[in-house]
Amino acid sequence: MEHPLSNPAERAASYYQASSNPFQHRPPLQEQLQADVAIIGGGISGCSAALHLAQRGYKVVQIEARQFGFGASGRSGGQLIFGLACSNDTIKQQLGKEAAQAIFAMSLEALDLTRQLIQAHQIQCDLQSGVAIAALKNRHVRDLKAYQQELTEEYGYDHLQWIEGVELPSYIQSKRYQALLLDSRSGHLHPLNYTLGLADAAQRHGVLQFENTPALSITPHSKIKIATPEGAITADSVLLGTNAYIEHLGEPLQSYIMPVGTYILATEPLDSELAQSLLPQHNAIFDSQFVVDYFRLSADNRLLFGGGVSYSRLPPRDLAATMRQRMLTVFPQLAKVKTEFCWGGYVAITQNRAPHFGRLAPNIYFTQGYSGHGMALTGLAGKLVAEAISGQAERFDLFANIKHRRFWGGKYLKTPALVAAMGWYRMRDWL
Ligand SMILES: Cc1cc2nc3c(=O)[nH]c(=O)nc-3n(C[C@H](O)[C@H](O)[C@H](O)COP(=O)(O)OP(=O)(O)OC[C@H]3O[C@@H](n4cnc5c(N)ncnc54)[C@H](O)[C@@H]3O)c2cc1C
Repeated sequence: MEHPLSNPAERAASYYQASSNPFQHRPPLQEQLQADVAIIGGGISGCSAALHLAQRGYKVVQIEARQFGFGASGRSGGQLIFGLACSNDTIKQQLGKEAAQAIFAMSLEALDLTRQLIQAHQIQCDLQSGVAIAALKNRHVRDLKAYQQELTEEYGYDHLQWIEGVELPSYIQSKRYQALLLDSRSGHLHPLNYTLGLADAAQRHGVLQFENTPALSITPHSKIKIATPEGAITADSVLLGTNAYIEHLGEPLQSYIMPVGTYILATEPLDSELAQSLLPQHNAIFDSQFVVDYFRLSADNRLLFGGGVSYSRLPPRDLAATMRQRMLTVFPQLAKVKTEFCWGGYVAITQNRAPHFGRLAPNIYFTQGYSGHGMALTGLAGKLVAEAISGQAERFDLFANIKHRRFWGGKYLKTPALVAAMGWYRMRDWL
């Protein structure tokens, strides 16, 4: 059965699938199982939680409706980025300065944790250091400088490097940008291979895993019962790590997130000199527009160029040509280079762009709403869930204390309402 969010871009083959490491697919669940913890979802959130719980001695069963890495984790731009998708002020206004500082520090911990997981479990996923935010306009330059100052003065983070003028071509060969704000603690990787590597690590630690096994319902009691098409799980605790790709379980989580389409084009492998000239330090870049362009080189020297969000759930008509046009605006020197892949996926955005973690009942946890900024934070989210289930919930609760509003319009009207609201912000990119 097709996923409810399915569209041609979302079904298209990706460069990541074409270059994925061998992975032994898991069978569907066809029995009744008992577990300490049941994990729903085979993305980074679910795999990290499963791994951290198994390392703490819990009996864990993990189910994935489709295949491991089917959701955003296997389609992503792969950028591991410091901070959250929302401003630090969003957190500070709600929870105060100390909590905002603690949450920012955890966003850095998430970067370090990703590196540790890759190293500890020998995951082959082309990890590289360095992500830069690019400024196109004077107002972006002002905003980024203010951001750098805020991080240094209020959050004690002074690793960021400001790059402009004659230095710029040593980092990016594009006339589109005036300056870069570079963080070498951030990085990028092959997101599908990272996800599959985490799934394998969890399995090696004893997690029982099943694919093509959607959770159809969750019945809360002191023991929770999860029904699947051909089996069932009874567990003491449950994590829903389903994010934008949630299916069957619906409300009450869905009304807090909006699935927003974003797309990536992969060129053919570039001549190594050409690749080196585009991004000489092999940093990943995302720019300061409301409709962000993001790009990086793959391990085999393709340019992976992402952007072009759609709030209507339909990809732009002639997606590959649209993405190519965006790419050529940044790198006109790629005019003769062929496009080999173009695919899409959904990010789950929240109203305030802060991540949405919490509990539906004392023993039913959820993590969602990373708002396009989840590659690193998902790994930490899984660890925080493992801590909380083990009785140390303070760090999970810091995130869970962030307040969220539902999207106006319910299941059927919220998308048109958002499309209208976002039109204004898109216009600002042209000014
Ligand atoms: C194109 C794209 C580019 C992105 N680029 C970046 C980036 O560069 N940097 C960044 O930080 N973030 C990026 N993101 C966001 C990031 O990828 C996500 O925040 C992150 O991967 C979310 O991971 P997750 O494990 O929570 O969810 P997912 O990876 O979406 O996993 C959820 C899984 O749950 C499964 N599921 C759903 N319902 C059920 C059910 N009922 N039963 C069983 N299983 C179920 C789904 O099939 C899915 O596999 C991007 C996302 C996309 C789509």
